[in-house]
Amino acid sequence: MTLARPLFATPRSYLVATTPDEPVLFLSPEALHRAARVFRDGFAGLVTYAVKANPAPVVLDNLLAAGVSAFDVASPAEIALIRARAPKAVLHYNNPVRSQGEIGAAVAADVASFSVDDRGELHKLAEQVPRGREIAVRFKLPVAGARYDFGDKFGATPKSAAGLLAEVARLGYRPGLSFHPGTQCTDPEAWASYIACARDIAAAAGVTLARLNVGGGFPARRMLGDTPALGAVFTTIARATQAAFGAQAPDLVCEPGRAMVSEAGQLAVRVKAIKQNGQVYLNDGIYGALAEQPIMGMTDRLAVMAPDGTPRRGGVRACVLWGPTCDSLDRIPGTVPLPDDIADGDYIVIGGMGAYAAATVTRFNGYGAHRLVSVRSLDTPIAHWTPRPACLVSP
Ligand SMILES: *Cc1c(COP(=O)(O)O)cnc(C)c1O
Repeated sequence: MTLARPLFATPRSYLVATTPDEPVLFLSPEALHRAARVFRDGFAGLVTYAVKANPAPVVLDNLLAAGVSAFDVASPAEIALIRARAPKAVLHYNNPVRSQGEIGAAVAADVASFSVDDRGELHKLAEQVPRGREIAVRFKLPVAGARYDFGDKFGATPKSAAGLLAEVARLGYRPGLSFHPGTQCTDPEAWASYIACARDIAAAAGVTLARLNVGGGFPARRMLGDTPALGAVFTTIARATQAAFGAQAPDLVCEPGRAMVSEAGQLAVRVKAIKQNGQVYLNDGIYGALAEQPIMGMTDRLAVMAPDGTPRRGGVRACVLWGPTCDSLDRIPGTVPLPDDIADGDYIVIGGMGAYAAATVTRFNGYGAHRLVSVRSLDTPIAHWTPRPACLVSP
């Protein structure tokens, strides 16, 4: 079943028919179903979706329809969002820092599992969370491989994780461990290091793990040349779990955000102006759906077309791209290779934008209104135009 049957075939047909001045995030229900299938068929455990990556109703409804029945949530608002459309969904509240009010809201909403990385926070949970629920201790390792490191903010060291895990069991909760190797982690061995460490933590605590949550961080395709190896990550996780725990292997949980939704979205931004100096001003920028580009590196999965849908295929020009606000930080760092026949009013369609694009948009300077449009397919027009490196010149 595909919900919210798309009215438009492709981003291109929508842009030609409506020539929107606002940025548009196109979402493909079919691609969401495909990603859900990849995780369900490939991952040997419970697949939960990390809601923060894209909480749009069309995303949640299609993942539910595709059989995703468990969700990683981080706030009472995300809990309410899921409960409103799926009263029976399993909720894992894996933001390890919560106020007493937030804990109360989670208990009232029958959250099944909590993560924790600090003794004080564990005792806060123990005041309200019924015994027998799962509490997973989140730990961190200094492992490389991800685009940015989540360990700066969350995660106990292995030594303090062992003490916390023993305390979780002593308090009468189902003991688990969890980790997050960092988003867009392309090295499967990062998971293997964490899983081996989980075994050591459980042994030091003298606790048999009920479950092991191997996080999000699964890589999506960002650049034209990328071939994210989800299969290799799934195989490594299964192999490392067997090697570490053997017959006592805990049940596995994963919580993909990016890799579940990234390929299901394409963002269309519009050229508002091209100045005499060649610099390009867009209707979206770093306070909008392009917020991740300065952090992750600008994607090269771009296609440019005229408002009538004609693809621009000129030689390549290295362009300075500015966002729409009056803030001089609102710029894509460096330059971006674009066709040299790009013109005022053109659309730039950007692939792999389903995750962390619409989700973090601000209304700074009055911008940030995005249209969300479901389409039958995303096949056009990405990759019709490919930069030819030999032609790269500065403006
Ligand atoms: C953000 C987050 C995720 C999802 O991470 P991705 O890199 O998008 O897969 C999963 N779990 C937790 C606890 C998170 O904070």
